[in-house]
Amino acid sequence: MTDYIIKSSNLGYDSIADFNSEFLVMAHQFKFDVIIVGSGAAGLATALRLPKSLSIGIIAKASLKEQSSYYAQGGISAVLEKDDSVDLHTRDTLDSGADLGDEAVIRKTVSAGRDTVEWLTELGMPFTRDQQDPNNSGLHLTREGGHSRRRVVHAADATGKALQKTLYAHAVEQDNVKILNRHIVIDLITAEGECQGLYALNLDSQHVDAFRARKVVLATGGASKVYLYTSNPDGSTGDGIAMAWRAGCRVANMEFIQFHPTCLYHPEAKSFLISEAVRGEGGRLLLPDGSRFMQDFDERGELAPRDIVARAIDHEMKRLGTDCVYLDISHKSRAFVKSHFPSIYEKCLQYDIDITKQPIPVVPAAHYTCGGVLVDECGRTDVQNLYAIGETSYTGLHGANRMASNSLLECLVYAQAAADDIGKSIKTGGKLPWVSPWDESKVTDSDEDVVVAHNWDELRRFMWDYVGIVRTDKRLERAQHRCNLLAREIDEYYGNYKVSSDLIELRNLVTVASLIIRSAMARKESRGLHYTLDYPQRDEKYRKATILVPDSKAENRVIPLHNRST
Ligand SMILES: Cc1cc2nc3c(=O)[nH]c(=O)nc-3n(C[C@H](O)[C@H](O)[C@H](O)COP(=O)(O)OP(=O)(O)OC[C@H]3O[C@@H](n4cnc5c(N)ncnc54)[C@H](O)[C@@H]3O)c2cc1C
Repeated sequence: MTDYIIKSSNLGYDSIADFNSEFLVMAHQFKFDVIIVGSGAAGLATALRLPKSLSIGIIAKASLKEQSSYYAQGGISAVLEKDDSVDLHTRDTLDSGADLGDEAVIRKTVSAGRDTVEWLTELGMPFTRDQQDPNNSGLHLTREGGHSRRRVVHAADATGKALQKTLYAHAVEQDNVKILNRHIVIDLITAEGECQGLYALNLDSQHVDAFRARKVVLATGGASKVYLYTSNPDGSTGDGIAMAWRAGCRVANMEFIQFHPTCLYHPEAKSFLISEAVRGEGGRLLLPDGSRFMQDFDERGELAPRDIVARAIDHEMKRLGTDCVYLDISHKSRAFVKSHFPSIYEKCLQYDIDITKQPIPVVPAAHYTCGGVLVDECGRTDVQNLYAIGETSYTGLHGANRMASNSLLECLVYAQAAADDIGKSIKTGGKLPWVSPWDESKVTDSDEDVVVAHNWDELRRFMWDYVGIVRTDKRLERAQHRCNLLAREIDEYYGNYKVSSDLIELRNLVTVASLIIRSAMARKESRGLHYTLDYPQRDEKYRKATILVPDSKAENRVIPLHNRST
């Protein structure tokens, strides 16, 4: 969407604002009241919740389909049944989070579940209905791991797709909202402790544009792409976390990365999950020699919880030095497999894997980033006028492990909280400060893109091997050493060459990798998703969030959850 750019306009800011859409200033300079980075569930919902009197720009580097929100299968959690309660949902979330969640935050978030579902229903979200059950709201509810009640609303097995289509359809209808796809934000513009806008590379024109705004909302999703294997789309490179960190925001709990135990392992198959239902229906996990191994790790075998299965697979892969293990459902009848798992059957067949006859190669994959930019109850960060919501943020909801279907709820609830706060605090009267244009006078075109490609691979490989599902002090030290080397090399490269999307993402990935490593090193216990062989037990001393402070002179500080303003 570049049709509204007026090249080399010499009109002043005020006159432009008068005659044209409020967002255009002059060549490659744009102005909005609010800029939202990201068009996933968090970003789109924020745009819809903001007052219609504000001009809103949504900037996204990829299309609607290339974001985690679109991929979500299970659903959105909400207390809707008569025998359910906010107390129960709060308790389940605290338990899943290994007692590290913030109870007040959890209670506030889950209390908003019913209103959130009603809002989506009003927007036309096609939730799967269940008219037979007088106990609930007419919506079909499923039960997922960790939930003690049926409380997950869904749209068949493609909730994210339906959600994104619903939100997007409304966003494009609004005159005050402009959606700019294929723009990758490079960095935030800050001065005197406040955010004044951002720079973004237009992926079509290859020009870096400056965007000025009164408020900026980061809704950039997670950072799972920092690992070799991930269930996430390519854009989950932690850009928002890295940008906020560079701008001076604290980040929290980055050591807690959720791994899904079984993602299809095939060079051409990206991000395809093999549902836990396959194990639920009798699927067996096998080593390359055909032997089973789950019984050695947990008496529930293949039915053990997600993190235990992921850890067992990781252990066996590291022990044997293999690239994957196998999940076999071929002992069931062909008719059973095809009727229970039609999409898995079809998808695997595309790669010449007939799951009715042969086992499926699988690996665990990074799935969800529990930590992120530290925010308050309205999504406000440490930098004035800068908000972070959705997977990119750390609100205190998930603690040390995310309970299934709580994340979309968090996106939607914090979208409203941030929008309300912006609506109350924004002052639209005065001029916005001038920002200098992006300066490329001292950089040249890269003549060695192989450096970027190589470092991408190296980073994701060592993060997988050393900072993955099972950690040790030694592995973390190795990773930190490599991370520091890469960071220096990437910094130098960034300083000398023109930016590209791969370089921008790599620069962010190395920052996020470093934050994960530092956080993991600071937690000398095993809790939730952080498991280390050197400290295999929980330790009450560490029942607090790991908060990193962006000050090169400061040591990593571990600040108790209830003392965030320190
Ligand atoms: C396979 C899968 C299944 C899941 N199932 C569920 C489920 O059933 N229930 C549930 O609650 N959760 C589920 N999750 C998790 C949930 O989908 C995500 O946590 C949630 O969708 C995150 O939404 P978001 O808006 O924060 O980020 P995303 O949806 O990832 O959107 C991020 C946006 O930011 C943009 N962006 C990022 N960086 C930049 C940049 N530098 N410049 C410009 N734009 C940028 C991207 O293009 C994108 O538009 C699942 C996740 C996956 C991967």
